[in-house]
Amino acid sequence: MTQPREVWVFIEQDGGNVAPVSLELLGKARELADQLDGKVCGLLLGDGVADRADMVIHHGADEVLLAQAPELGVYRTLPYARVAVDLVKGRQPYIFLLGATPVGRDLAPRIASACWAGLTADCTSLQIGDFEFRDEVYKDLLYQIRPAFGGNIIATIVNPETRPQMATVREGVMKMEQPDEARRGVITQVAPQFDPADLVVEVLEREMRLPSCDLKGASVVVAGGMGVGSKEGFDLIAGLAHVLGGEVGASRAAVDAGFIEKEHQVGQTGVTVRPRLYVACGISGAVQHCAGMDQAGTIVAINSDPSAPIFQLAHYRIVGDLHEVIPQLISAYRGTAK
Ligand code: FAD
Repeated sequence: MTQPREVWVFIEQDGGNVAPVSLELLGKARELADQLDGKVCGLLLGDGVADRADMVIHHGADEVLLAQAPELGVYRTLPYARVAVDLVKGRQPYIFLLGATPVGRDLAPRIASACWAGLTADCTSLQIGDFEFRDEVYKDLLYQIRPAFGGNIIATIVNPETRPQMATVREGVMKMEQPDEARRGVITQVAPQFDPADLVVEVLEREMRLPSCDLKGASVVVAGGMGVGSKEGFDLIAGLAHVLGGEVGASRAAVDAGFIEKEHQVGQTGVTVRPRLYVACGISGAVQHCAGMDQAGTIVAINSDPSAPIFQLAHYRIVGDLHEVIPQLISAYRGTAK
């Protein structure tokens, strides 16, 4: 009997806190594995993280490969790569997904190069499909889909020959499915083995800076672009965000102009958001910006240019100067909220 094809997800955690992107990827992995008649495995590495295994199963895994050791307590490239590469070589997964976080971006290429596997960074969509090349048909490949050439094309990348087919995906791109607490799976303990050379880097001290905004989790985002005109102009954006109980987002152009910090940037090279309501103020609607917000429930756009591309995406369109429109919205909202 042939073994089911395995779709692996690297479960990123820090101090036992599992990164949301790993849970998002488990939902996607479940969908892909179901199409392949395969199984989902979560690769959980750390020290004292066994109690996280159930969470991995509830989010869609059939099996958790659990490697625990003091050497894996804090993420370091070499020991993590050693364990992951040994497991990949032993089990030959079909697909391996990682979050496009600083850790995932560090670890994924290490694993890919050690295993001679193909890797696509920052995918925005993953699908299963066939691929024909020189009269040969490759069945059930992973389509690794992402914007390329500055967002001007959407490329579909395949690895016909090498396994695993590896991809990283940024946080917020895939939808996190609700956990199913009744779901049962297998937890396989793995004994990690290290080479002394894997442990040459020591972590002496860690300094953590908490983000000042939670764009990813926000149910309302009010975002400003170049049309806001200045750093001070963002007080207006913050004012509207405040009355709506939301977070402030921004276009990259506004960030580059120094109107607001980078952590507020929405889009292909910023944060991907899925709020209930997204208000785009003075944002033209470039494809790279829209890639980060087009999944919002309702999109309201305020722009002085009636032909701005953002209006093609928006559910509600307000043509006008945002410096006039936003104060009216704020006072109207305050009026109805009383
Ligand atoms: P503009 O395109 O200059 O638009 C300003 C808009 O404001 C115009 O539509 C104008 O009509 C309107 N306006 C002006 N004055 C007013 C007013 N008083 N009232 C109302 N409306 C007004 N961009 C992102 O946002 N996020 C990304 O992650 C991102 N990643 C990128 C990655 C790559 C590889 C590349 C090449 C580009 C990326 N960009 C990204 C940049 C993107 O292509 C656009 O340049 C950027 O989104 C434009 O920002 P904007 O809409 O604020 O500015």
